[in-house]
Amino acid sequence: MIGLIDIGGTKLLAAVGERGRGVAATVRRPTPRHGDMVAVLIEMLDDVRHGQSLEAIGVAAPGPFDRAGGTLMNPPGMSSDWHRQELATPLRKRFGCPVQVENDANCAALAEAHLGAGRGSRLLVYYTVSTGIGTGVVLDGELVVQRHDNEGGHQVLWPRRLGGPPCECGGAGCLEAIASGRAIAARFGRSGEDIEEQAVWDEVGTWLGLAVVNTVALLDCDRVVFGGGVAVPRWSRVEPALNATVAAHLKLQPAPEIRPAELGEDRNLAGVLLLLGR
Ligand SMILES: [Zn+2]
Repeated sequence: MIGLIDIGGTKLLAAVGERGRGVAATVRRPTPRHGDMVAVLIEMLDDVRHGQSLEAIGVAAPGPFDRAGGTLMNPPGMSSDWHRQELATPLRKRFGCPVQVENDANCAALAEAHLGAGRGSRLLVYYTVSTGIGTGVVLDGELVVQRHDNEGGHQVLWPRRLGGPPCECGGAGCLEAIASGRAIAARFGRSGEDIEEQAVWDEVGTWLGLAVVNTVALLDCDRVVFGGGVAVPRWSRVEPALNATVAAHLKLQPAPEIRPAELGEDRNLAGVLLLLGR
């Protein structure tokens, strides 16, 4: 039995899972702003394991984090009590099993590749468009992880000197600074849930389409999947401009299949289980 944790900006999820048998029922709590974060995660794991021992624990965490040490570094949008929060060491001590921490967008990408909208692809690039924008790359069913995390949300599309808006990363004009939930709220004065004007979604779709063009130019991927709380609920609004932008700009390579994500709230947990269960 493997313990699974997903640390989000607003909620924490935990469940247990078995190799080849998927994720069991999930418990959730609001992400605490202060206090002993690890104590909350331990309580949640105790709730789901029903006294059974865990053979491993996997944690889907917001980036950036220290993969080798299993420590959060400075996740944007989270309370400062989560900055430099050690996860792997205290969980390993408490449960006596190995602990692996992985980027949440990578976990979602792996889950979509095996179980969702990425099935049948050879090289999948996954974009999660929610408060921020994260990316994950899966090649032949395996997560592609290099020195650090890939940061497709911080590809620059609108340079600072041409008016690109500032980004949380310290740069400007990144995809995340233009088309994320946070950026949409800042630029248009309302949350994406409240925006019905098609012109806004045409603009968001255009930026996302450019991101697809750049992604294919570099990686020649055969599938791009968009997940997250902004892209999926508004897919029918975003898709026309996104596809039109790809068709207008991608001339040397065939367009990949572009699909909305299919999996539900436990996608990151499913991805962690796939990561540990092989
Ligand atoms: Zn940025």
